[in-house]
Amino acid sequence: MINVQEIRKDFPILSRSVNGKPLVYFDNAATSQTPNQVVDVIVDYYHNYNANIHRGVHSLSQEATDKYEAARIKIQQHFNAAKSHEIIFTSGTTHGINLVANGFSALLEKGDEIIVSALEHHSNIVPWQMLCERTGAVLKVIPMTEEGTLDMVTFEAVLSEKTKLVFCNHVSNALGTINPIETIIEKAHAVGAAVLIDGAQASPHIKADVQALDVDFYVVSAHKMCGPTGAGMLYGKEAWLQKLPPYQGGGEMIAEVTFEKTTYADLPHKFEAGTPNICGGIAFGAAIDYMNSVGFDTIATYEDELLQYATEKLSTIAGLRIYGPNDHKAAVISFNIEGIHPYDMGVILDKLGIAVRTGHHCAQPIMDFYNIPGTVRASFAFYNTKEEIDILFEGVVRAKNMLS
Ligand code: PMP
Repeated sequence: MINVQEIRKDFPILSRSVNGKPLVYFDNAATSQTPNQVVDVIVDYYHNYNANIHRGVHSLSQEATDKYEAARIKIQQHFNAAKSHEIIFTSGTTHGINLVANGFSALLEKGDEIIVSALEHHSNIVPWQMLCERTGAVLKVIPMTEEGTLDMVTFEAVLSEKTKLVFCNHVSNALGTINPIETIIEKAHAVGAAVLIDGAQASPHIKADVQALDVDFYVVSAHKMCGPTGAGMLYGKEAWLQKLPPYQGGGEMIAEVTFEKTTYADLPHKFEAGTPNICGGIAFGAAIDYMNSVGFDTIATYEDELLQYATEKLSTIAGLRIYGPNDHKAAVISFNIEGIHPYDMGVILDKLGIAVRTGHHCAQPIMDFYNIPGTVRASFAFYNTKEEIDILFEGVVRAKNMLS
């Protein structure tokens, strides 16, 4: 059983007011809030052992290095990677995807095919389009259904011996759809294609086991998991990370540099050029500890309860349409009310202290599919309550009356 009132004490921001009203924070899919336990780790880093890592013989540098590498191991254990050097620290999901897309420039040839799902965030579309421009590879799409799920029949028809890579999100940030990534990975592997899963939106709700999934690459951002912005991780199977060339050149990622030839460092440092976000990596580890102390099963059960409660309540409003599937969905409700622009709804809700996202959610192809400019998206975390959903419901009704 989750004790939400106790948990909320860890998040002082949840007690503040916005526009004279108590804040209701329902923009968790954009970024989650950060508990005291993680903020304390950030403060401790800057108060007590701020130093550059891996290079220093002095004690502070060694302390920072030990904590940074301990965070890597926490992340490895959380995602059940076989080896800690399969975890590459990144600045976030976008960085991880670009790193892999850049590496595949060296591995693809003209006419090779790569497959994207129709439910992607722009950060899992654009880097691959750029890869196609560089290599002459062809981008194919797994279409979506009216229900907001992937059309798996067409996926199988699009897959072929020419497919080299498939990429898909674990959970759609725009609709909340939990995608059948196990099937996608199995089918892609059957034709010899690698798979990258964008776990940005799944990571706050689902504890992914990269070995059980047998996924080739899995990417996340710390800020969706109660951690800081500007930190994240790329998991890659060792064999793939060996095969991909480095992404950026610089300090840290080299073995030896001469003007004739430079050799690269071993994993994971080959992909970690320059001074990294040391504090961010350490705080990411603390965020994972925090989420595990609440427990992912507990989080999932509670968020499902919130989602069901909100779905039932909002569905009673005439003219309101919820986009996305009814079940097999993470804590996201994307909706519109007939005749009302999502932006106008968002502005009124903000005046009532309710933070929701409005717009295309960096997933324009989904909006084009439904022929809408965007949606209002309320996304929940384990620190939200049913009382807050009641406030959202009343706010939506009020906004509807004002705007109709
Ligand atoms: N993919 C998905 C599914 C997301 O929800 C997001 C963040 N909205 C991203 C990728 C990009 O993450 P970031 O901006 O942290 O790199």
